[in-house]
Amino acid sequence: MSRAMWVIGNWKQHHLPEAAMTCARTIADGVAAASAGAHRVSVGVAPPYLSLAAARTACRPVSDLWLFAQDVGAQDTGAHTGEVGPAMIAHAGCSGSIVGHSERRADYGDTDGLVRRKLHAVLSAGLHAVLCVGERLESRDAGTHESVVLTQLSLALSDLSPELVGPRLIIAYEPVWAIGTGRTATGEQAAAMHRCIRGWLGQTWATAGSDRSILYGGSVKPDNAGALVAAGDIDGFLVGGASLEAPSLLAIVRATATAPVVQAP
Ligand code: PEP
Repeated sequence: MSRAMWVIGNWKQHHLPEAAMTCARTIADGVAAASAGAHRVSVGVAPPYLSLAAARTACRPVSDLWLFAQDVGAQDTGAHTGEVGPAMIAHAGCSGSIVGHSERRADYGDTDGLVRRKLHAVLSAGLHAVLCVGERLESRDAGTHESVVLTQLSLALSDLSPELVGPRLIIAYEPVWAIGTGRTATGEQAAAMHRCIRGWLGQTWATAGSDRSILYGGSVKPDNAGALVAAGDIDGFLVGGASLEAPSLLAIVRATATAPVVQAP
C-alpha cells in the first residue's frame, strides 16, 4: 500500500506577483527532477490571493506544480466583504485550499465551526483541502495534545462522508509551537501523532483512514525533511518559511522523494 506524498509551500503574506511568478517558475522547472526519487511526490504552492494569477502561469496544466489558496470562504458568492469562495479560487486556477491554518485560527477568528464550514464548502466544490490541525505548547506540555488534535479533526470532519471526500482531503499536522519557531517536532513526536490521527480515521472512516495522506508542518527545512519522513508514517510536508525560495523548497522535495518511506497500515 502506498499513500500519495506531498510537499506544499505556504507562502503566507509574501511574494508580490512578479516574485511569485519567478519563484513558481523555478519550482516548476525543477519539480520533475527533484521529485524523481524512490517514490513520487506531488508538489504545490499556496501564494497570496493577489499573486495567484501570476503563479498560475507556471502551474498545472502547464507543469506538474499544483496551485492552492491559503484560505477559502465558506460560501461561493454573496454579500461577504473580503471573502474569496471555492468557485473563485477554482476560477483562479487553484486545485484546492489550505483550511484551518493555526494562524487563521489564532488571529482571524477561524473557529472549529468555521473551519468545518470552509472544509465542507471546498470539498463540495470538488476541490482539494489541506486541513490543518495542531496543538499549542500548553497542550503538549500538559499531555493533552492527542485529544486536542482529535477534537479539531472530529469537529472539522463531522457530517462529511469518505465518499464525498475521496482522495481530496489531505491532513496536515502542524504543532503550533513548531510553526515559524525553528523548533521542529522530533520524528517520534510527529510519527506518534500521525499514527494517532490515522487510528482515529480508521475507526471513523474504516478503510478510508489508511490511504489518507497526513503531512507534517512546523519548521521543516532541507536538512530535517529526510529524517522526518524516515521516522515513519509522514506522507510529506506543509512548509512555510523554507518554501519562499525555490531551491530550498526543491531541496525539501528531493529529500522527501529519496528518504526511506515507512508507511504503517
Ligand atoms: C506553516 O505555516 O504552515 C509552517 C509550517 O510554517 P514554517 O515551515 O515556517 O514553520
